[in-house]
Amino acid sequence: MLDKVVIANRGEIALRVLRACRELGIKTVAAYSEPDKDLKHVFLSDESVCIGPAPSTESYLNIPAVISAAEVTDAVAIHPGYGFLSENADFAERVEQSGFVFIGPKAETIRLMGDKVSAINAMKKAGIPCVPGSDGPLGEDPETLKKTAKRIGYPIIIKASGGGGGRGMRVVHSEANLLKSIALTRSEAAATFGNDMIYMEKFLEHPRHIEIQVLADEHGNVIYLGERDCSMQRRHQKVIEEAPAPGLTEETRKRIGERCVEACKAINYRGAGTFEFLYEDGEFYFIEMNTRVQVEHPVTEMITGVDIVKEQLRIASGLPLSYKQEDIQIRGHAIECRINAEDPETFMPSPGTIEHYHPPGGFGIRVDTHVYQGYKVPPHYDSMIGKLIAHAETRELALTRLSMALSEIVIDGIKTNIPLHQELVQDTAFEAGGTDIHYLEAKLGIK
Ligand code: ADP
Repeated sequence: MLDKVVIANRGEIALRVLRACRELGIKTVAAYSEPDKDLKHVFLSDESVCIGPAPSTESYLNIPAVISAAEVTDAVAIHPGYGFLSENADFAERVEQSGFVFIGPKAETIRLMGDKVSAINAMKKAGIPCVPGSDGPLGEDPETLKKTAKRIGYPIIIKASGGGGGRGMRVVHSEANLLKSIALTRSEAAATFGNDMIYMEKFLEHPRHIEIQVLADEHGNVIYLGERDCSMQRRHQKVIEEAPAPGLTEETRKRIGERCVEACKAINYRGAGTFEFLYEDGEFYFIEMNTRVQVEHPVTEMITGVDIVKEQLRIASGLPLSYKQEDIQIRGHAIECRINAEDPETFMPSPGTIEHYHPPGGFGIRVDTHVYQGYKVPPHYDSMIGKLIAHAETRELALTRLSMALSEIVIDGIKTNIPLHQELVQDTAFEAGGTDIHYLEAKLGIK
């Protein structure tokens, strides 16, 4: 087992990684930025190192600073969490070149899957169904572009190959807007992701977002842990996630799960990963792979009993997976609400001091958060301050528990999206299950 791990992240995921390390007897180093000195995992870690000032480019994204944190503390590995450097192939490479273990896939795999065009090509080769599209990057010739869009059929979506976080996408409904939209997306992609490669896909009108969690070790063992439904989205960002996906049959789960396992073997995958699909009319269409632990991993943990972060640490230690596919049984239903420090109506971030904090509790309730009474939410980072997860034998009971927990939780001093969640768990269509990716925005009146 790894001896000492640097946690190169912040907030709830840093605490999540710390807890997994502790269970496995691994020592921890919190690598934190100046305003994050009061984070819970910084207090709880065995050692901590300040890696720079507030701007993430100077701290959490500062590769030499993160690697130095491992050097000065004599750690052996670095856990990148999600976001920040977690899908940065150059970082993974430099970590390994410096003699440390990167807790994640090999750099070449991150590079392959981080570029969406190359990921789609690799997945097609591995037998994974993809969204009909341009089959490669878009060129400059206007006539060819028009022809490609026509072949795919409007509406189409133009996407940045290096995009992420729900940005770098533009929907086009007719040829009149095609060339202008392509030019705009291309220049935005260059400015935002430093890569102007873009591609085109059919824009699916009523899909659900369903993703498959996988785990792969260094010994050729690969398993899938079922699926999550993350269709409740705003601006392509997930708001509520659940597992299993309402209405998905065991047979369908097995069919797509086994394909993902085969794809992992084809690309020599290592670690925890997620295949994201759009699911429409009973068909799956691959959109991208995340080569890291995801925000919504707890819903899978609750229904399978598998600690995904502990498995990541075992895999990085060179150990085999603790489970075989036949050990994986789905028990009940879990739903997660992302709690954000933001105005529930305008969605503007709401940093500040948490004056009162009362967590909810009870059977089947899990709260993954780093906040505490008196904690000051800094303005510099993502507004997510925690996740509330409810697990129960049935989806209906999980929703009841979630609703009770949302009425118990008190976070005062800042605005949060709890009122929005309270409304959503009582929404008739969401209650029925199986709403598509456009449902939430339509409900919120966003066009
Ligand atoms: P990111 O890497 O930015 O998260 P994804 O490719 O995973 O981008 O897409 C994020 C979300 O955007 C999806 O969950 C879905 O809501 C929407 N989306 C992406 N591609 C399509 C498509 N072809 N048709 C309809 N919606 C799409």
